[in-house]
Amino acid sequence: MKFIETRGNDGVHPSEVTFSEAILSPIASFGGLYVPKELPYLGVAFLTKHLNSSYKELAKDLLTTLAIDIEPSVIDEALSLYDKFDDSSNPVPVVKVRDDLYVSELYHGPTRAFKDMALQPFGVVLSSIAQKRGEEYLILAATSGDTGPAALETFKNRPNVRVVCLYPDGGTSDVQRLQMVTEDAPNLKVIGIHGDFDDAQSALKKLLGSVTFKATLKSKNISLSAANSVNFGRIIFQIIYHIHSYLELVRQSVIVMDEKIYLDVPSGNFGNALGGYYATKMGLPIEKIIIASNENNVLTRLINSGHYDLRNDKVVPTTSPAMDILISSNVERILFDLFGTVRTKELMQGLENERFYALSDDETMKLQALFSADYCNGAEGKGYIKEAYDSGYLMDPHTATCFKAYDCCATKPLKTIVYSTAEWTKFSPTIANALTGESDANDIDALKSIASTANISIPSMIQGLFSKPIVQDTVIDKENIETEILKFL
Ligand SMILES: *Cc1c(COP(=O)(O)O)cnc(C)c1O
Repeated sequence: MKFIETRGNDGVHPSEVTFSEAILSPIASFGGLYVPKELPYLGVAFLTKHLNSSYKELAKDLLTTLAIDIEPSVIDEALSLYDKFDDSSNPVPVVKVRDDLYVSELYHGPTRAFKDMALQPFGVVLSSIAQKRGEEYLILAATSGDTGPAALETFKNRPNVRVVCLYPDGGTSDVQRLQMVTEDAPNLKVIGIHGDFDDAQSALKKLLGSVTFKATLKSKNISLSAANSVNFGRIIFQIIYHIHSYLELVRQSVIVMDEKIYLDVPSGNFGNALGGYYATKMGLPIEKIIIASNENNVLTRLINSGHYDLRNDKVVPTTSPAMDILISSNVERILFDLFGTVRTKELMQGLENERFYALSDDETMKLQALFSADYCNGAEGKGYIKEAYDSGYLMDPHTATCFKAYDCCATKPLKTIVYSTAEWTKFSPTIANALTGESDANDIDALKSIASTANISIPSMIQGLFSKPIVQDTVIDKENIETEILKFL
């Protein structure tokens, strides 16, 4: 499979690249992204073939069919990481929560959020490409919560890759911070910044554009790469679980093969939803993909009105922080698929320069044929958490946004898969508040309260964080980031 560019070619970048090249340098001409040149249509034959396959067998065959330039032994090693999920025979359980509504749980990996689904295998793949080329890579990540822990976990002790992870000190949950600052490996550096996530992110962008910084890296024979969610090396692993979840419903005799269903996705940067879109393009019988947001509802407005409008917008902090986003980067890949390179470039430049673009009525209808959308505020979300809990299901605030979108958007009487992207342990104060009304100042009190209310135990990898030694204790002003990174290198 070859990759082409969403905004066309500038004559400097190659006009087509391989999968490995798209992973190592994810930014294409004119600031665009890489997309598959074509996707095979697999249809019902592929689904039937894999009705009784394990997750890994399905994944292996899909990746082989997509013909990426990664050796089979590396793919095997990458996929073997799913063996370390809670249930090695099924890393992604699908459970019934209401009539017609099933939850696919994407959080059973080492850091208890869905970022592991893609970042776990991605770490193996990136490190192996770097080794094969005899190159050293530095990955810089700014995180507001879930990406940092998942990136550190996957690259820990992997050859030829070093990771520096910036987080806003005081701006993440206790569990998320502890997951980062207790990670001990010589190739990892975690840096807290005095400031908020935007400060961490803009400091990182400045560094990525700095000529002197890049020259210094070059003199040390180190190249920069990125593990953010526009990297196709992550997207490719997010196609698999949509197919798996559909097949689970067939296996559970909830649907018959080829019956249409809805997918309902809590969305931020649109990587999860994009994986569902690609699966649909390859023949998964999906009626529509429902896009759930929180109060940062730019995707709801885009899909319902055709306008991507940030002219009066600021990120508002919510109880589902992993979706607190205004620029949802992977939407660009949908624009490309529907409207082509010329229009995509025009629209994306509008967004970059004027913080606004408007689709035509015809374009909006094309988008609405694929997606429906709605958003959920914090109070509504807590209501859904309480309601699900009372009927026997404990879920996190990101998952809860999907229930509102389901009530609004699943208009036909079809089965629906809601994606659950985080375990209750990662956002415990909000959940404790939803269940009992209490307001806990910190995670450990909320975890204990939920555990005793629900009569469950706190998973050992979360409980253990609170007694692990803190090895990453650097907290600095953002002016000193470059010095700190060079000290580490
Ligand atoms: C990253 C994340 C999301 C958003 O996923 P996208 O692929 O960026 O749309 C939703 N929920 C949780 C818990 C996450 O960590």
